[in-house]
Amino acid sequence: MTQFPSSHGELMLGGVRLSILAARAGQTPFYAYSRSALRQRIIELRQTLPTKIKLHYAMKANPMPALVGLMAHLVDGMDVASAGEMKVALDAGMAPHDISFAGPGKRDTELRQAVAAGVLVNIESFREVDVLAQASQALGLPARAAVRVNPDFELKSSGMKMGGGGKPFGVDVEQVPTLLANMGRAGLQFEGFHIYPGSQSLSAPAIGEALEHAYALAVRLAAHAPGTVRLLNLGGGLGVPYFPGDKPLDLTRVADTLERLVQRAHADLPQASLALELGRYLVAEAGIYVARVIDRKQSRGQVYLVVDGGLHHNLAATGNFGQVLRKNYPVAIGTRMDATPSQVTSVVGPSCTPLDVLADRMLLPEAQVGDLVVVFQSGAYGASASPHLFLAHPACLELLV
Ligand SMILES: *Cc1c(COP(=O)(O)O)cnc(C)c1O
Repeated sequence: MTQFPSSHGELMLGGVRLSILAARAGQTPFYAYSRSALRQRIIELRQTLPTKIKLHYAMKANPMPALVGLMAHLVDGMDVASAGEMKVALDAGMAPHDISFAGPGKRDTELRQAVAAGVLVNIESFREVDVLAQASQALGLPARAAVRVNPDFELKSSGMKMGGGGKPFGVDVEQVPTLLANMGRAGLQFEGFHIYPGSQSLSAPAIGEALEHAYALAVRLAAHAPGTVRLLNLGGGLGVPYFPGDKPLDLTRVADTLERLVQRAHADLPQASLALELGRYLVAEAGIYVARVIDRKQSRGQVYLVVDGGLHHNLAATGNFGQVLRKNYPVAIGTRMDATPSQVTSVVGPSCTPLDVLADRMLLPEAQVGDLVVVFQSGAYGASASPHLFLAHPACLELLV
């Protein structure tokens, strides 16, 4: 399940051998993200999806400033989830016009910052309408706003449900016509809709169905809008394979659905751009997490490799970031790529908790102290989504290679 080649028995990333990357980092553990893999993913998407579909990057998947700087040249828009992320996007050179701000708890100061920056706010409550109107008046600047709709359906077979039923995200579709009227009265600059039904789906039919529903919902709501729909952000939810048996998403089927929607939009929403907002699909597979073996132990017949990294840097890979059943991410001994997997091995982190497991009884080549363990699929929800302070271990480094 790895796209990275190996040479002389070592994994290569960005044309550099793993041991050399470690020397360049000057420490383990570290994350390494491949520029070429990041570029390649976007090229594939552009080749497969209708050209009219805009690609947005949801920065919370990986907010490393250098990576965001690269993405700023590759995508059409960026979605930020806080004023802190908004700063990273602006610093990276993303045009304010192409930045949108979503999140269930936007503070007054953050909304004001968005108006000052000229960033589009995805409105998620009635309160946000009032705060934006006040900020707009105080600053003498337009408040660009779209409505984040909490839809009355959800993305089936998705890892994390973000819509349907009672949710803190967005405004219930039933309440949206009233909200739109308030936005009109408040003089906000209406730009469109944002509908995000879920995340981490590997099922093209399920994604297709959610996209169709989201589109139909937006067309229905557009009749109540205080202005022209210029942007319809359809979310995304495109997943990546993490576990044995996971099949990569069939992107061509998603493309077929989007092609139909683009055609229908000519008539229904002639001024609107259709956008997908993707996080992990753009970055997860381009990143690895690397930790060094600091001890090798046997306990009652079970082999343990104790490494210097773990849940404090890569919570998701240890199964503690929302997974229901713990399963192993793909893991390799990156300094023994030519060796035959011969030993059932558990790779554990240095933290004093049984939750700190990077690989649970996996068949791996025999490894020794000093070897480098690689966790693949680590480019999303890694460094920034982990409890770095837990147990006061050293911080990890991130490299863009
Ligand atoms: C988290 C999030 C995303 C990205 O989700 P992925 O599963 O990483 O693609 C997109 N949009 C919004 C509003 C989000 O909150």
